[in-house]
Amino acid sequence: MTMLKTFRGGVHPLHGDHEGKAQTRGEPTRAIEPKTVTLLMGMHLGAPSEPCVKAGDRVKLGQVVGTPVGFLGLPVHASVSGEVLSVGPVQSVSAPNALAVTIKNDFRDEWAELPAPLGSVEDCPADQIVPAIRAAGICGMGGAAFPTHVKLAVKEGQFCDTIILNGAECETHLTCDHRLMLENSDRVVDGLRAAMRALNVPRGVIAIEDNKPDAIEAMRRAAEGRAGVEVAALHTKYPQGGEKQLIQVVTGREVPSGKLPLDVHVIVMNVGTAAAVAEAVIDGKPLISRITTVTGHVDRPSNLRVRVGTPVRELLEACGGISLPEDRVGKVVMGGAMTGFPCPGLEVPVAKANNGIVVYDAKEARETEETPCIRCGRCVDACPMGLNPYLLKHLCDAGDMARAQKECVMDCIVCGSCSYICPAHRHLTQTFKAMKDAIAAEAKKGKG
Ligand code: SF4
Ligand code: SF4
Repeated sequence: MTMLKTFRGGVHPLHGDHEGKAQTRGEPTRAIEPKTVTLLMGMHLGAPSEPCVKAGDRVKLGQVVGTPVGFLGLPVHASVSGEVLSVGPVQSVSAPNALAVTIKNDFRDEWAELPAPLGSVEDCPADQIVPAIRAAGICGMGGAAFPTHVKLAVKEGQFCDTIILNGAECETHLTCDHRLMLENSDRVVDGLRAAMRALNVPRGVIAIEDNKPDAIEAMRRAAEGRAGVEVAALHTKYPQGGEKQLIQVVTGREVPSGKLPLDVHVIVMNVGTAAAVAEAVIDGKPLISRITTVTGHVDRPSNLRVRVGTPVRELLEACGGISLPEDRVGKVVMGGAMTGFPCPGLEVPVAKANNGIVVYDAKEARETEETPCIRCGRCVDACPMGLNPYLLKHLCDAGDMARAQKECVMDCIVCGSCSYICPAHRHLTQTFKAMKDAIAAEAKKGKG
């Protein structure tokens, strides 16, 4: 195990409070059983799945209730057994009318017939691993929700020599990956080895920030004797878990502007995704549950093993509820402080990539008003992508799409470091996200 160099820029959010992780890092994961689940058909990046059940149907655990659509498509599986209550639009974290299948749990956990397990990750047929991952409906569980079978699709002329498992968990408040690495270390290594064997990759690196020494130790033990697998301790700095930042510190390679990790022969996967891959290969089981951190102003901050589709309300109840009087509740956020999204209602269901729920009080949640830029340059120093946020903000505010693109706004990873550090409280990150969305929409129109 080696201590690695760090990337340029970055920030130390909530540093004095151990990044908001102290409340839950020592909490062993406990499972909760939901009364109903609402399975969004669009939990992954790509076209939403097509529902293949109707209200009144009885479904078994692991049964396909949504079939894949298109190249990026993934199946959606029932995460409980029971009766389908409805198929139709619901509120998700990002849309008021997302298509979903809602199932009432009969608490019998009666399994559907599953694909035959492939067996040991070291001996199973390598060419069957990626199809098993797709059949299990696995997408990136660190937040991006990119379909894993597509990430592992290496085209002719390309090659991958290193798979990095992202165990950095640099986002504030979240400790679900930390607990997973402590409690299911072997499964994480199994998932990495399965991906390595599928693509014949010689090197696998499990990268963990050095604020989790127990996880580093647990993973080091689990990696012993596993071919090509090593553990790397990383400096604790946000956004250490950014894909391009991880690749740079682990391999020394820079992913050029507009290029992908595979262009420098690397694939990055989250540790939770790796554990799901191991389940699919070894047990033939689909992705129906995940660990989610529930913290902030709740009675009992926890790490919960939740069925996919469990409403946020049930997670909060399982943690004793919100510990604030109603008039002091600020907002409930899905994800951490730097990259999370405000939750538009407590019936919003947990999706495959939801790693956290954080409750803020009114003071913490208050939007600070923008004041004029004082040209201090702190945002430039903090940007891990080497961008010039104050110039970009000026261009975006002026609606100058062409110059914003020239100044590489599309390279912005929306990490929030510039907004966090800005003494003038400029709304930098949200402005860049809006500009990126507008440019992507223009490009789509051009193709369509
Ligand atoms: S949000 Fe974008 S511009 Fe701001 S620091 Fe992160 S990468 Fe740089
Ligand atoms: S940190 Fe804020 S005030 Fe300082 S240069 Fe950047 S945008 Fe301007």
